[in-house]
Amino acid sequence: MQKKYRTKTSQALNEFLSELEGRCFMAVDVSEYLDKHDIKVNLTTVYRNIDKLVEEGELVRFKATNSDSYSYRRADGHKHCDEHLHIQCKKCGKLVHVDDEIMSKIVQMIEDNYQFSLICKDSSLCGLCKDCR
Ligand SMILES: [Zn+2]
Ligand SMILES: [Zn+2]
Repeated sequence: MQKKYRTKTSQALNEFLSELEGRCFMAVDVSEYLDKHDIKVNLTTVYRNIDKLVEEGELVRFKATNSDSYSYRRADGHKHCDEHLHIQCKKCGKLVHVDDEIMSKIVQMIEDNYQFSLICKDSSLCGLCKDCR
């Protein structure tokens, strides 16, 4: 019984993720989605399912500048998200991975001018995308 329950949850989670289209989300969003589909699970279970996907490299966990809780998004084949910055739209939550080429320029400029090494893993920039501007 327990096993079937879990499968249903991860199935719904997959459906949720496929509807994201590049937007990021928080655990509560998943919780609400499951709730809407009459799947009753507690937030701990939601976190456990998400964490599993993070471990598998399907999802990337990061901290948005304007929030204390973690946000997540699909990795979509981006393997080195620890090594570049992300620009996040404040309005719709759309996320852009900064290209390696541009990234190395930013890193170099900050290093040269401020003697600071960027830690991309914990940083993200926010702004407004072209649709929300
Ligand atoms: Zn990335
Ligand atoms: Zn936007």
